[in-house]
Amino acid sequence: MTTVKSLKCRECKKEYAPTFKYICDECFGPLDVHYDFPSVNKNTFANREHTYWRYFELLPIAEKSNIVSIGAGMTPLIKAEKLGEALGLNNLYIKNDSVNPTFSFKDRPAGIAVSKAKEFGLSAVGCASTGNLAAATAAHAAKGGFPCYVFAPSDIEHAKITQALAYGANFIAVDGTYDDANRIAAQIGDSKGIGIVNINMRSYYVEGSKTLAFEVAEQLNWQVPDNLVVPVGSGAMLNAICKGFEELESLSLLGKVSNMHMIAAQPRGCAPIVDAFKKNTSDVIPVENPDTIAKSLAIGDPGDGRYVLKRLKQYNGYAEESSNREILEAILLLARTEGIFTEPAGGVAVAVLKKMVEERKIDKNDSTVCYVTGNGLKATEVLMEILSKPETMQADIAKISAMVR
Ligand SMILES: *Cc1c(COP(=O)(O)O)cnc(C)c1O
Ligand SMILES: [Zn+2]
Repeated sequence: MTTVKSLKCRECKKEYAPTFKYICDECFGPLDVHYDFPSVNKNTFANREHTYWRYFELLPIAEKSNIVSIGAGMTPLIKAEKLGEALGLNNLYIKNDSVNPTFSFKDRPAGIAVSKAKEFGLSAVGCASTGNLAAATAAHAAKGGFPCYVFAPSDIEHAKITQALAYGANFIAVDGTYDDANRIAAQIGDSKGIGIVNINMRSYYVEGSKTLAFEVAEQLNWQVPDNLVVPVGSGAMLNAICKGFEELESLSLLGKVSNMHMIAAQPRGCAPIVDAFKKNTSDVIPVENPDTIAKSLAIGDPGDGRYVLKRLKQYNGYAEESSNREILEAILLLARTEGIFTEPAGGVAVAVLKKMVEERKIDKNDSTVCYVTGNGLKATEVLMEILSKPETMQADIAKISAMVR
C-alpha cells in the first residue's frame, strides 16, 4: 500500500514519480511529497501506538515492514500554567520534544528518512548536522542496520559528538561551518549513492517533522492553536509544521488553519531569516560565520529560508531573535517554572515567546504552542557559565545543616 502520489516541485509544480530524487530537473526547486490520502477520521488514530508512526497513512512509507522505529514521537504537550503566569499568558502549551529517544525532535525526520532509505534499498545513510541530527540519524541507522556517516562542524557540543559515536556513526568533524559540512556531505552523498537524510533524502525527511503538527492538533483535541513559536535553523521544521496543519485541514480533521500565526525564532549571531523579515525582503543573506551558543540553529545559509518568509506572510507571523543572555535566562525560566530542561534552541523559542508577549503580538487569552525541540543535557557547558558550581563541603552534619533553612 502506498498513499504517496508524486514528488511535486515547490516552484514550478512539475510532478515526478516518488523515487530517490529531491530537486526539480526543470528549475532546481525542492520536491515535496504529495499524497492521495485514504479517508481517515479522528478515531482512526485514537487507539494506536504512542509514537509518530500512529499517523502511518499520512507518512511517505509504503510498507510497514520498512519502518525503522526507536519509539520517537507522541511527546508531551504540557499546559504551561506556571510559565504562562510568569509571561502573562492564560493558554500556553509547551510541546516538549526534548524527551524523544535521542533527546531532540530530529528523531522525527531522521526516522522517516532512514525508513525510506530501507524502502529504496540503499546501502548506507548519513547526514550533515549541527549536532542533534547526528545522534538521531546514527541511532536509526543502528536500528535499521545501516552504516552511518555524519558530517558536522568540529566545534559542536561534546555530548552530541559522544552520543553519535556511541551509536556507531562514522563521525567526520569538519574544520569549518555547518555550510561547509553540508557541501561536503552533498557531494559525497551524490557520488557514492548514500542516503544523506537532510540533503538527497530531504523530500521524505521533512515529512517526519510535520508530525509535530499532527500531534499538537490531536493533543489539543483537534483544535487549531492561535500562535506557534518555532525555533528555526534551516527552516525545514517550520515549513513542515505548516504542511502538517494544512494536510489535516484538507482531511477535514481540523477547521480552518489560515488564522494561525507562525512565529520564527532565531539566535542573534545567526538570524538571517529574522534580518530578511525585518527588512521586508525575500532575500535571505547568508551569515558567513555564525556566532551563537545555540549551535543547533547555527545555519548561516538556511535551505528553507525563503519558504519560511513565505509562511510568515501566509500566516500573519513574525520573526524575532534573542541574544545569548536572553537564551540562557529563558532556559532557566522554563526549567524553574515547568521543570523542563532544554538546550539553547529551546531557550531561543521561549525567549522569543517572551518578547512577543511584551510587544503585544500575542494576546494573553490566545492559545499558544511553544516548541521545545532539544534537551538541556546535550549542552550543559554554556549554562555553567551563569550558574555557580557548588563548593565541595566536608561531610559534616553541623556545617551542612547550617546551610539548609
Ligand atoms: C535542527 C534543530 C532545529 C531547527 O530545525 P530546522 O529544520 O533546521 O529549522 C531546532 N531545534 C533543535 C533542537 C534542532 O536540533
Ligand atoms: Zn521545478
